[in-house]
Amino acid sequence: MQLDSIGGVMLDFTRKGGEMDGAGSDYQSVHSAGFSRRRFLAKTSCFGAFYAVAKLIPLPTLAAELASDSRVSQTPLMDKGFASVRKVGSGLYATISDPSKGMTTICNGGFLAGKDSALLIEGFTTPAGALFQMDALRMVSQVPVKGALDTHYHFDHSMGNSFYGANGVQLWAHATAAKRIMDSYVPLQGVDKEAALGPFEKRVKEAKSDVERQHAQSDLNAVTGVYQAANATVLGLPNRPIDPAKLPMSIDLGGLMAVLESYPGHSGTDMIVRVPNQNVVYTGDLLFSGWYPVCFDEKATISGWRDTLKKFAAFDQDTLFVPGHGQICGQEGVASLREVFDDIAGQAEKMYKAGVPAEEAQHRYAVPDKFKNFPIFAWGFTIGPAITKLYAEWQAK
Ligand SMILES: [Zn+2]
Repeated sequence: MQLDSIGGVMLDFTRKGGEMDGAGSDYQSVHSAGFSRRRFLAKTSCFGAFYAVAKLIPLPTLAAELASDSRVSQTPLMDKGFASVRKVGSGLYATISDPSKGMTTICNGGFLAGKDSALLIEGFTTPAGALFQMDALRMVSQVPVKGALDTHYHFDHSMGNSFYGANGVQLWAHATAAKRIMDSYVPLQGVDKEAALGPFEKRVKEAKSDVERQHAQSDLNAVTGVYQAANATVLGLPNRPIDPAKLPMSIDLGGLMAVLESYPGHSGTDMIVRVPNQNVVYTGDLLFSGWYPVCFDEKATISGWRDTLKKFAAFDQDTLFVPGHGQICGQEGVASLREVFDDIAGQAEKMYKAGVPAEEAQHRYAVPDKFKNFPIFAWGFTIGPAITKLYAEWQAK
C-alpha cells in the first residue's frame, strides 16, 4: 500500500494549531429541493479534527473590486454556510466553499448553464456537496446536464462523485484520474486504522524537534481525515476519460462556449474550464487563492506549476478566476500565489546552496509576515514537498 502517495489534502493550519482534538461533527444534512430527495446522514467521526481547526480560518469576503465587477452578483444564489453559489458571468456560477463552516464540499466548483445544456464542475468531498450544487443549478436552469467534471482526482474534488453516478450524470475527468482515484483511495478502504496510520504516528513519536513534531502531527491529521473520508465513501469513477493530448476541447452549451484545457502542476490530472468570451476561468487546484499551495502529489511539479501560473498571468487582465480553494479572485490572486512560490524557492535555494540537506530544509521554511494569514494544509502536503521537489529539480540539473 502506497501510504506516502495518499491523494488528498486536509485543513491543518499548523500555525493556528492547538485545537486538534475537537470532535465537532459537521456533515451538513442537505434536503434536496428537486434532483434527489435523499438525505445524507451526519458522520460524526469524519473530519471532526479538521473542522476544529478549519473553524479558525473563515473565508475572506469578496474583494471590493470584485464585488463591484458587473459579472459578479452581489448576493449569492444559494448559501449553506459550508459553500455558497454566486453568479460570475452570463450563465456562469461559482461555488465557493468555506471550510470554517463545514466540510460538505471543501473545494470550490461551479457550473455553466447554456441554452441547451449545462456543465457541472467538481464532485466535491461528499455526495451532499454535489447535490447542493445540482440544486443550485436547478434554481436557474432546467437544461439537461451534459456532464460533471472533476478538475483532478483528489479526494476533496471526487469523493462526492457517486451522486453523479446515482443520477445518471456523465462524469468527466483527465484520462488518468479514475486510476489515480483507485490507486490512492481503494487501498485505504477496509484497512485497519493502525496499519494505515501507524507510519505517520511513528513520525510524530520520532520527531527530532518540536517543529518537526508539529509538522508530523499535521500530516497525521491530514492522513487520518483522508482515511476516514475514504472509508465513509462509495467511490465514483469518471466514465468519460479525457485525453489531454486532444485538448483544448471546445464545448458548446448553447450560446455559451467553454474550453477544456490541461496544465501541469498540482496533480498530473489537472484540467481547467475557460470561458474566453467572458474572461472567466475555473482553475481547479492549479490556483489556490490566498492559501499555500498543496504540492504533495507524486505528479506535482513545482517548475511546471510555476510555468502554468505564468500562463495564467498572461490571460486577459480582466480575467475572473474561480480557484480550487479560497475566494474568487482576479489576476492579483495568480500574482500572490506566484509570490508564494518565489518565496519558498528563494528560501529553499539559500539552504540548498548552504548545503542544508533536503530532509532538514523542508522543515526550516519560515512563513513571512506577508503570508501569515494564508492557510497551510498539513505541512507535509504543502511547503515540505515543495522544498524537496525543488531540491530534486536542482539536483537533476
Ligand atoms: Zn487538489
